[in-house]
Formats: sequence, C-alpha cells, structure tokens
Amino acid sequence: MPTYVRTDKCDGCKGQDKTACMYICPHDLMKLDKDGSETGWAMKAFNQEPEQCWECYSCVKICPQQAIEVRHYADIVPLGAQVQPLRGTDSIMWTIRFRNGTIKRFKFPIRTTPEGSADPTAGKPKPDKADLTNPAVLFTKDTHPGDMSQFVAS
Ligand code: SF4
Ligand code: SF4
Repeated sequence: MPTYVRTDKCDGCKGQDKTACMYICPHDLMKLDKDGSETGWAMKAFNQEPEQCWECYSCVKICPQQAIEVRHYADIVPLGAQVQPLRGTDSIMWTIRFRNGTIKRFKFPIRTTPEGSADPTAGKPKPDKADLTNPAVLFTKDTHPGDMSQFVAS
C-alpha cells in the first residue's frame, strides 16, 4: 500500500534541492529524479522503496500539486476506489471516491490557532540536558507526575 507519484501532476517542487515530499517523509523514501536517469521522468519525485512505506500520508498531505496518491490494500479500499486529502490552512478535506463512481467529501478543521502560531512547549519548563539521563523526569511530569515504582532498576 505505498504511495506513488502522478508524473502528470508533479512539478518537482520547481527544482528545489529538497522537495516537500522529501522534507516530510519520516522514512526518507521520497526522492527527486532530477535528470530522469532513475525513472525516465526528469524532475519528478518517486517513492524509492515502496515496500518500506508507512502509508502515513504525510507526503500526500504536503504535496502542493496533489501529485501523490496511495495504493490501498484491496480488502480495505476496492480497486478503483481512492482516498485523497486536500490540506488547507485551517481545514482538511478528504475526498472518498467509491468504485461505482460515488464521491463523498468530508471537511474537518485542523487547528484552533492561526497557522504558524502554535507553540507546543508553551507553559512548559525549559529543557535541561541533564534530565535526559534521569528516567523520572518526563516532559509531562507537571501534569502527569512520574511514579518511580513503575521504573525497573537496571
Ligand atoms: S511534493 Fe509533490 S510536487 Fe513536490 S516533488 Fe513531491 S510529488 Fe512532486
Ligand atoms: S506515506 Fe509516509 S512513509 Fe510513505 S512515502 Fe509518504 S511520507 Fe514517506
């Protein structure tokens, strides 16, 4: 169930050194074939190791050209059907295409703050490098105090 790139849509992120799909893939699977020597398609990205794909959809969501699609398992999504997200700044729209041609769209909000303003560590103490070796110190210790009895002494 890996991703694949639609060469008719991909623009190689306009030749930037690191394309959006390369930037976001947690498994470093996406690659830009600059001269076409690897795929026959110059300036098109491709999934260089499909069997390693996590199907996390990150590249699908970030691609500005909607050029990446996922081949789903046939027992989940029948052949010919498709699930495709379209990410906006405050919502994401999922388009579900059924094998019989029926299309349904679902739109969900994806943030409650303006884009770029989220501060994931707001209100949290500054990290202390020494804490890395202390199993009792957790990032969430203030809200979920650690219980030392849960740790196994080594
Ligand atoms: S993010 Fe999309 S447009 Fe950019 S290189 Fe990857 S597949 Fe192509
Ligand atoms: S679906 Fe996830 S793991 Fe697979 S190529 Fe895209 S970003 Fe990488």
